[in-house]
Amino acid sequence: MSGRPTVCVIGGGPAGMIAAGRAAEMGAAVVLLEQNRALGRKLLITGGGRCNVTNAVSDRHVLVSRYGAHAEALHSVFARFSPLDMRGLLRRFGLDTVEEAEGRVFPVTQKASSVRDALAAYLRAGAVEVRTAVRVRALIAAADDAGSSGKTITAAQLADGNIVEADRFILATGGVSRPETGSTGDGFAWVRDLGATVRYPQPSLVPIRVVEAWPLALQGLSIGNARLSVFLDGARQFAMTGKLLFTHFGLSGPVVLNLSQRINELAQGGPVTIAIDPLPDEDGGAVDRRLQAILAESPKKQLGNVVGRLVPARMASVVLDLAAVDPATPCSELARTARRAVVDTVKSLRVTFDGLLGTDRAVVSSGGVSPRDVDFTTMTLKATPNLAVVGDMLDFDRQSGGYSLQLCWSTGWVAGSAAAASAATASPAVG
Ligand SMILES: Cc1cc2nc3c(=O)[nH]c(=O)nc-3n(C[C@H](O)[C@H](O)[C@H](O)COP(=O)(O)OP(=O)(O)OC[C@H]3O[C@@H](n4cnc5c(N)ncnc54)[C@H](O)[C@@H]3O)c2cc1C
Repeated sequence: MSGRPTVCVIGGGPAGMIAAGRAAEMGAAVVLLEQNRALGRKLLITGGGRCNVTNAVSDRHVLVSRYGAHAEALHSVFARFSPLDMRGLLRRFGLDTVEEAEGRVFPVTQKASSVRDALAAYLRAGAVEVRTAVRVRALIAAADDAGSSGKTITAAQLADGNIVEADRFILATGGVSRPETGSTGDGFAWVRDLGATVRYPQPSLVPIRVVEAWPLALQGLSIGNARLSVFLDGARQFAMTGKLLFTHFGLSGPVVLNLSQRINELAQGGPVTIAIDPLPDEDGGAVDRRLQAILAESPKKQLGNVVGRLVPARMASVVLDLAAVDPATPCSELARTARRAVVDTVKSLRVTFDGLLGTDRAVVSSGGVSPRDVDFTTMTLKATPNLAVVGDMLDFDRQSGGYSLQLCWSTGWVAGSAAAASAATASPAVG
């Protein structure tokens, strides 16, 4: 392998896999170290096991706007490797993708494991040395030449005491959400020790707990298009429409995940309630007219047996309970005030925010390595130019919709390309 740059990638999640594959494709000798017995454990649970692999948004400005503060830094990264490029890479390794609602892109197989398989094929094509069940304990750094404040990483120290030397290192150890998948935040401490700024990780896209018990009765029910309006001390603050999922602890689904951080911040200022409207495309008058038509069609039936034509069937008894209307009421005998109560309840199912689920249940955690400390042409730390940081380790807020993984693909690609381009001679060596 003499004459080829040597690259050591730490962390075999999506960001590490693509970085390793790309560096190898560009001619480097690459070793990929992963503490789990298999690569991409978190990748397998993405998108409910289907893996929302990217988003089909084609306008780069719109794409960049999905990543919160500091997002400008990502323009060049997405220019070099876009969502379309990622779909092309997967296709190259035998996996086609399809676009669904809100531009979400999934593998045609509807299986996250197919994405992992395609990336594994990419690694094999580049003869990447994949070493699993290997935990990295620390990075070994040497001070640069006199006069320079920077450092050079010379090796990764493994938990068993061995070391892996390389010219270039790519850190892809992920964030802190779902630690059981291996994302234990190890890389943050190493990078902080090197002088980089690391914002303590907070849950970002995370389901929420509510005070009321009624969502439990709807556990597993998803509504494709629900409007959530958020109130502080009774005053409306903001709203968002999207897919909602009822769970045993409260609410989840993309619209909740996307609102979770704002709701949590708002709750610092007082009690927060959320009004759920499962029929956002119809105003109260339209819903009332539809209910009247349903009642007129079946005058002898009991109300409890027909409200399921207005809202999802499982929601009918919850609606009547919250509206305090007897489900045994014959349709022809429903008083106008009771009918209005049903309509008002449907248009505004209220829950009280009780808190976020812990960081460990978050879909992604916010926080991480400050973009200010990163050179985005190479993804390396400015003060440690042979160490790149990619994927969930970076401090970018991102929305649900395939954006987290696209951040991994693009930053990993850029880091892999740059690492391979750096000329050097030594091979990765285990000592
Ligand atoms: C339930 C859930 C669903 C999600 N769904 C989606 C989705 O559909 N679309 C989307 O875009 N995003 C989704 N995400 C987010 C996405 O999974 C992450 O953004 C992505 O996995 C981050 O990739 P990464 O490579 O940066 O880190 P990770 O996937 O966290 O991988 C880091 C790897 O590093 C390894 N590692 C850590 N420390 C060490 C060490 N000391 N030594 C050796 N190895 C180490 C870990 O074992 C792990 O394999 C979801 C997340 C969750 C939790």
